[in-house]
Amino acid sequence: MIRLPPRVIWFLLIPLSRLASAEPVFNTVTVNGRNYVNLADFVRFYQFDRKWRQNGPNLNLVSKYRHLQLRLNSRECFCNGIKLWLNDPPLESRSSILMPEVDIRRTLDPILRAWAVPRRPVRTIMIDPGHGGEDRGASSRNGTHEKNLTLDLANRVKRLLKEAHFRILMTRRSDDYVSLEDRAEMFNSSKADLFVSLHMNSAKPNPTPRGIETYCLTPAGLSSTGAIRRRWGIGRFDEEKGNRFDTQNMLLAYLVQQKAVSGISEAEDRGIKRARYLVLKNAGKPAVLIEAGFLSNSTEEKRLLDPKYRQKLAASIVEGLKLYAAIMNRQGFKQKVKRK
Ligand SMILES: [Zn+2]
Repeated sequence: MIRLPPRVIWFLLIPLSRLASAEPVFNTVTVNGRNYVNLADFVRFYQFDRKWRQNGPNLNLVSKYRHLQLRLNSRECFCNGIKLWLNDPPLESRSSILMPEVDIRRTLDPILRAWAVPRRPVRTIMIDPGHGGEDRGASSRNGTHEKNLTLDLANRVKRLLKEAHFRILMTRRSDDYVSLEDRAEMFNSSKADLFVSLHMNSAKPNPTPRGIETYCLTPAGLSSTGAIRRRWGIGRFDEEKGNRFDTQNMLLAYLVQQKAVSGISEAEDRGIKRARYLVLKNAGKPAVLIEAGFLSNSTEEKRLLDPKYRQKLAASIVEGLKLYAAIMNRQGFKQKVKRK
């Protein structure tokens, strides 16, 4: 049903001998009440080249199939070129570079060891076009409403996924109002294995922000990317509970963002973010929410109004979903093993 390019299979699915254990085990040190792992141990466990490159605060970790760019005292990092937001920044202490343990386990491990993410086969996907009916969602100055674009994009995603032999359910098929609670309830009581919520963004009154960002539920022990306390630097950040699907959610968000951004050169990568949006929080199975572009940015609005662009967007999102499903269904892996 789904074939993966060999390079992708190697990167995502071949458990290199030392990486195959269920949970990474690290010695930790505590700094300001948070646990950290020595970068040298992190590099060894994930089999990056021992000699990482450091240029001022920038750290470059490479291996044959991976590339991780970190920056001391910064939460922003790039994994194979895709932006991630860490919960805590890497830091330097007593001439050692330290990696936040919670981010290794919750943010990076599901991506760096995709094969170790517990399988949950994907046959049926529920697509959730954001807003609808009296809830118009974001609106542009020219009167473009988010609810119409999300439904159009959802229909394009549906058609492409059907062609790839997935069963599809929708939370709405026309311009109807459906509450967030009902959307999550529909998903939980359905046979759908995955929930994909589609939205358009707005940064009104700021016309500058543009690009694509993908959200997953804030995993256990981490704070939401835009948490108010974090923004204002007040005290300890909230540490959320996450759910049983933290690792699947993170991998799903990463793959969708990776494919969406690499498939659309015009779109800026705003990264993978964590939030407690109601549809994600109430989802009893893996779920992801995609903010596919800003209606408050006139250039991006123009693009989003072009059906060809929306088709490209749909195709890129579908590539990410197919890749996630292939990993969960392990088809690519089996094919590769058979050929050997
Ligand atoms: Zn929305």
